[in-house]
Amino acid sequence: MKVMERSYEAVERAMKPVAADLVFGYGVPTSIDTAYELADQLYPEIMGRRRRMIRDEAESIAKDHPFLVIPDGDRYPLTATRKMVVNSAGLAPKPRLAQVEMYDPATREMQTTSIAPYLAPDMEDMQVEMGRRLATATARHIKGASRELVIRTARENRTGWARQLSGSENCAFCAMLVSRGAVYTKDTARFETHDHCNCTATLVDGPEWDGRDEAERLYTLWRRSEGLAEFGKKYREEFGFVGMAAT
Ligand SMILES: [Zn+2]
Repeated sequence: MKVMERSYEAVERAMKPVAADLVFGYGVPTSIDTAYELADQLYPEIMGRRRRMIRDEAESIAKDHPFLVIPDGDRYPLTATRKMVVNSAGLAPKPRLAQVEMYDPATREMQTTSIAPYLAPDMEDMQVEMGRRLATATARHIKGASRELVIRTARENRTGWARQLSGSENCAFCAMLVSRGAVYTKDTARFETHDHCNCTATLVDGPEWDGRDEAERLYTLWRRSEGLAEFGKKYREEFGFVGMAAT
């Protein structure tokens, strides 16, 4: 198992109780102001964990590429955490709804309703859902520190970087991105992720890199497919697991 893969999984696990405790203490935010209050508590936690993630990634880069200059600093802003909490609570203009069982006084039955978390802050199910969303999104922001460092290092040293699959299951979307192989960064190049994505980024400063064979195998598969759906089907068959649906 790769070093960063272990760090990513540890962060996913660690953020669950942290997020649940925050929601227990602050409740589900019901306004932008209360969302910001929660975010301001969460931010130092994210920064501390990003620092450790950056340290781990820097060690791993230095070991494999001793001559590259690794840039300092972290540009992660408080506004990113605030936006994440606002989105998780459903306070954004197009809210992500959560399904809950609610008592309907008209029919006197329990009914499944889709509702934004901030509109039902006292429901236990909603508090659990809010904690789950925050944990997932927070882990994503922390894991981002490691990929950003790889991409910044590539840019600074004028080398390339490549995406690598990691974790027990990968979606077709990630596999498709891996099939593109090495990326030689322009300022616009970003690492695309989704919830629970544990793909890592690796530096490419020569014809060989860790994960090149896998990328080539996936590229062959991609060329034999018409579109993502077919690629996903072939990928699941050939890589021998039941993959997640691409979302
Ligand atoms: Zn992924």
